[in-house]
Amino acid sequence: MFEPLPQYPDHPALEEEVLAWWDRERIFEQLRERNRGGPKFSFMDGPITANNPMGVHHAWGRALKDVFQRYKAFRGFDQRYQNGFDSQGLWVEVEVEKSLGLGSKRDIEAYGLAEFAERCKERVAHYAEVITDQSRRLGMWMDWDNDYYTFSDTNIEYIWRFLKECHARDWLYKGHRSTQWCPRCGTSLSQHEQAGEDKYVELTHPSLFVRFPLRGRDGESLALWTTTPWTLPANVAAAVKPDAQYGLIDGAWWLLELQPDATPERVVRGEELVGLEYEGPFDDLPAQVGIVHRVIPWDDVVTNEGTGIVHIAPGCGAEDFELSRIHDLPVVMPIDESGRMLPRFGDLAGLTTDEVAAPVIESLRQCGLLIDSGEITHRYPICWRCRTPLVFRVVDDWFISCDEIRQPLRDANAGVTWTPGFYSKRMDDWLVNMGDWNISRKRFFGLPLPLYPCDCGHLNVVGSLAELEERATTGIVGLHELHRPWIDDVVIRCEACDEEVRRIPEVGDAWFSTLGWENAEWRPHGYANGASAGLSGADLPDHAYWEEWFPADWVSESREQIRLWFYSQCFMAVTLVGRSPYRAVLTYERVRDETGREMHKSWGNAIEANEAFERMGADVVRWLFCEQIPSQNINFGYGPAEDVKRRLLTLWHSVKFFVDYANVDQFRPRTDAEVSEQALDRWLRVRTGQLVADMTDAYERYWMPDAVGIFEAFVDDLSNWYIRRSRRRFWKGDPAALQALWSALVRAVQVIGPVMPFLAEHLWRILRVDDQPESVFLEPWPEAVGLDEGLLAEVAEVRRVVELGRQARGEAGLKLRQPLRRLVVQGASGAQGHRDEIAEELRVKEVEFGPVEAIEMRVKPNLPLLGPKLGKELGPVRAALEAGEFEQLGGGALRVNGHDLSAEEVLVERGAREGWALAEDGSLTVAVTTELDDELRLEGRVLDLIHQLNTMRKDAGLALSDRIRVTLPESDADLLQHEAWIKEEVLATEIGTEGIAEPEIAKA
Ligand SMILES: [Zn+2]
Ligand SMILES: [Zn+2]
Repeated sequence: MFEPLPQYPDHPALEEEVLAWWDRERIFEQLRERNRGGPKFSFMDGPITANNPMGVHHAWGRALKDVFQRYKAFRGFDQRYQNGFDSQGLWVEVEVEKSLGLGSKRDIEAYGLAEFAERCKERVAHYAEVITDQSRRLGMWMDWDNDYYTFSDTNIEYIWRFLKECHARDWLYKGHRSTQWCPRCGTSLSQHEQAGEDKYVELTHPSLFVRFPLRGRDGESLALWTTTPWTLPANVAAAVKPDAQYGLIDGAWWLLELQPDATPERVVRGEELVGLEYEGPFDDLPAQVGIVHRVIPWDDVVTNEGTGIVHIAPGCGAEDFELSRIHDLPVVMPIDESGRMLPRFGDLAGLTTDEVAAPVIESLRQCGLLIDSGEITHRYPICWRCRTPLVFRVVDDWFISCDEIRQPLRDANAGVTWTPGFYSKRMDDWLVNMGDWNISRKRFFGLPLPLYPCDCGHLNVVGSLAELEERATTGIVGLHELHRPWIDDVVIRCEACDEEVRRIPEVGDAWFSTLGWENAEWRPHGYANGASAGLSGADLPDHAYWEEWFPADWVSESREQIRLWFYSQCFMAVTLVGRSPYRAVLTYERVRDETGREMHKSWGNAIEANEAFERMGADVVRWLFCEQIPSQNINFGYGPAEDVKRRLLTLWHSVKFFVDYANVDQFRPRTDAEVSEQALDRWLRVRTGQLVADMTDAYERYWMPDAVGIFEAFVDDLSNWYIRRSRRRFWKGDPAALQALWSALVRAVQVIGPVMPFLAEHLWRILRVDDQPESVFLEPWPEAVGLDEGLLAEVAEVRRVVELGRQARGEAGLKLRQPLRRLVVQGASGAQGHRDEIAEELRVKEVEFGPVEAIEMRVKPNLPLLGPKLGKELGPVRAALEAGEFEQLGGGALRVNGHDLSAEEVLVERGAREGWALAEDGSLTVAVTTELDDELRLEGRVLDLIHQLNTMRKDAGLALSDRIRVTLPESDADLLQHEAWIKEEVLATEIGTEGIAEPEIAKA
């Protein structure tokens, strides 16, 4: 007996059951054991941030990672299965700050760095556990509890080693830079963190037109425009476009093209204003003492908004800062790291950049310097972590110079196979345009940068814990992990002058990642040191191990990671070992809601991963992600999930069909059975071979949309052709048909296993026979055997003919249960040997192959063209066209009433002649007669009755083999001309008539 299937699967319940069974039977461990020592497939997991529960957007990547690891495992590849958790850096800090109610860096310092670090570690430990549970629920097979953590001392040491190598090549430097700054996080943001569209929002700011009076030019001012009033107290210069025309209008100089209606008193070229000095609006502030404001030239002055004269504050903007270098301008920094005005700004001191707007405007108004003030709504950058609007500050940061590594990175990337392919170009674009890597963050719980600059001018860079221990003079005893505050207590000796030297306080960019290919020796629990103590049992493999596994054969992360993880991984690997750390990449876009909008908790359209697993089932989630073209955003939601569930029913019902009939006949399939030579069985075997070949090809190309499409087409063929066409054989319990169907089903279930492991496992366990492995994932990947392109093409043509035949019937309003007289097929010559099947499928008495003469062309004049051409002749031509009295000249041209008309001059509709219905698809045309006679009508009624009786059988809960007695109303007595036929179709022992209104059945 096969375990009977309910009418519909309960995905979540079935998945929980399979998960528990996998655990109990240790299926994953068995699989790893089987593949140990096999060929290697090296996958490197980009670490997931262990800072919040996993979202559905993470499920995309994690599903794909599991799909391909499962596929490779099927094929016998030995794999590492190591999961990674990203566990240090600003994102963890921001969430911990929120949970502790800390609002600023000062609050954190008051709370205590050691305590704060503990809270960060606790958060990571908690969410690593949450994510592990969620990932298991998604069906991810990983070596859980042997994860690597980026905040382990081991990982920190790897990065130190990388930085030491950068220093050996003289790439590390401290830069005085204008950088985007988050006043809430109190840190700068690097170019790669801040790239991307969603890092901008629409914000409303003041829009001010102000005048700066020129010195020595009575009654003349410069007109300037700004949307950042807080930068005006830091003004040092005004820029004009040297070759543009400026006009003096109402006492102020403006770019002429921005005042088209004004009548200027004078017009000059911008270069004539260069060098003039002016009075700044806040010259009384201590910060402005000694500053001479002057006009400078700048070719990039914007000429389509503002005044054409740009206010320059080098302490508040990147371009301003660049100009200060060219023109040797003083740099006035107005704000501190929390975005508040510095003490040297008088009454404005302590105000935020927003708060300062009102007093600035008021002061300008009082001094008569305000020309106009309003508001502007524009796109403005926000912090990618906390969504606070960003400002510019000039700060000291540490950088890695990219000039020397740029070309080697591009060369390494050129050898990587990207899927989809065009992302290779995206990566290359990034490498071409990337600026130097800003690696320092003025924060707390991140990678401690091992930089010890000495007063003697020497920069000491420590490359390992051992080196730190060796060079330390104090603080090493209390160093319980390599994080702040403990690391800050370690003082080392300068290698140049032997003086004691301290570490810089900065921590590193969170995007440093990990790869362990260079460590010399095996260490037990090597990833469980430092902050990871107790979180992972992963050993630190030795160098020989990494020789075997590096580089990764394949990695997969979202497209954003081109600037982040893919980049930092590649940067570190090329620096250390001169090659890309991965051979192939699969990348994918973003998750949207089902209407295509971004998902946001505050918009109420976000879906939690757990909720998706519980309501859709993890298989359906995985299916949705696999089906999606990865270079396009996915519209994810319960609507699309319902659609997938509905489509999956075809497979479910096919298995159920097999199980029901196999159980009636106590059929047991055999793995070594000869396949019958019955035509449909032979076709199904070939079709299954094609499924295996095509699915294998799609997996090898890392292209799941094809795999899903191939699978669905197969299931459609299986259900809507093989099973439909073979019904009678199943009713009779034909073992050849049952065997053929079983063989196809077990292969289908297996090859879709990587996509939906739960349903595949569940169905496998129902279908499998004793000499097969207990889990589908322990069955070796099938060979594609018995391919026969000719046979497949033939049946595909038959199915097209049937499809078009149905369409033609449908358009004529003729239901499929109504037999028809004749069908004519033009094209699809390969289908000629299947006349009987086509006749049966389409319920027609005769099938002919040959030209379809049922087509009628209806031709009308194209009036806008023919009206002017024919004039009075138009009427007779139209009549002749409508009557079909024309000659076809080829290429769509016609001759009518002595006029030659081109294809464009007529409108042609093709339709069926009276008494026919037709459908066309390319070169294939199928036409059926629509006329009914008494015989056909009677047969139609018989078929309706058979359908009705079989529905009644089902509704009465009768078993497939139960016999019945049928009673019909007297009015249906004429149907008994077909008594034998009806009896056979509904398993009736007798049929009688009585004075009743509706047919009745009873179990015999
Ligand atoms: Zn921030
Ligand atoms: Zn020194």
